[in-house]
Amino acid sequence: MRTIGIIGGGQLARMLAMAAARLNFRTIILEPQADCPAAQVANGQIVAAYDNAEALERLAAECDVVTYEFENVPVDAAERLARTLPVFPPPRALETSQDRVTEKQFLNGCGIETARFHAIDSQDDLERALADFSGQGVLKTRRLGYDGKGQRVFRSEADDPADAYLALGGVPSILESFVAFEREISIIAARGTDGTIACYDPAENVHRNGILHTSTVPASINEATAEAARLAATAVLTALGYVGVIGVEFFVLADGTLIANEIAPRVHNSGHWTEAACVVSQFEQHIRAVTGLPLSNGARHSGCVMQNLIGDDIDTLPAWLAKPDTLIHLYGKTEARPGRKMGHVTWLD
Ligand code: AMP
Repeated sequence: MRTIGIIGGGQLARMLAMAAARLNFRTIILEPQADCPAAQVANGQIVAAYDNAEALERLAAECDVVTYEFENVPVDAAERLARTLPVFPPPRALETSQDRVTEKQFLNGCGIETARFHAIDSQDDLERALADFSGQGVLKTRRLGYDGKGQRVFRSEADDPADAYLALGGVPSILESFVAFEREISIIAARGTDGTIACYDPAENVHRNGILHTSTVPASINEATAEAARLAATAVLTALGYVGVIGVEFFVLADGTLIANEIAPRVHNSGHWTEAACVVSQFEQHIRAVTGLPLSNGARHSGCVMQNLIGDDIDTLPAWLAKPDTLIHLYGKTEARPGRKMGHVTWLD
């Protein structure tokens, strides 16, 4: 085992490549954008579309195992690779998480509670479903939504749904019941090739404009809620025969009940704190898992807060640099567009 192929070339792949290098693995990135954040620190890049047949053949020939940094990797491409070399997490995890309806059905099948939901394929479906949820709910595209994109919130019966289905693109969608949550948490967990499972402590997440702003550890939840999060992550990892790191996001109700929102079959933004507050970060944990090395137990030595640097936030860098207890991680992106993740900082508590 020497070379790891990574599909996707953003900051998650960049951080995976850095962790891989520390364990003496080489990395090859498959990403259509040249000089992407990951390629800047990896051993090579194949500049091609994720489903380019020739590129996939080259990746398979040059690597010993393939992993990925985002859940919208074409399932066909992952399955094709899996015929010649190990692909971790398994392509089934992609299939499950790419469609919000499939994902919720899978979670419910694992005994994990989610928001109630209806599949929406027309404006009529939407109006019927809204009536069932007393006019409140969140309409989302089933596929390809991220950072709150492709969503519409209905707060009451006064909210007029006219044309809402078409406004979201007229694509297969889902209406979720509105969850009146007290806080949002996520848990990062990993499963090794030998079936060992290790969970990090849950993080409490605050979003701004649909994008993660901060993750704070420990989260303000009691031990029973933390244990429920660990059990849910364990059930998901086991059911998928998973290998690698996964992120599971939850809403927490006032009584501590967890409602699962989504699973991310990859390292996750809400796990970036692990590089500052744990001996082994989520990135190294993922590399260990997909290469068959023993996992860390996920133990944490400090409390911390991770904050994303989004768009112009990058201008505050000098102030972060002046703080003695703050770890800074930048992603090698030259242009700071609004909403673009430029880096993150983590300070110890
Ligand atoms: P998502 O794209 O599913 O991660 O949703 C983005 C954000 O929208 C979540 O982090 C929540 O803050 C909010 N949200 C999503 N779904 C719901 C829901 N069913 N009820 C209430 N808030 C939601």
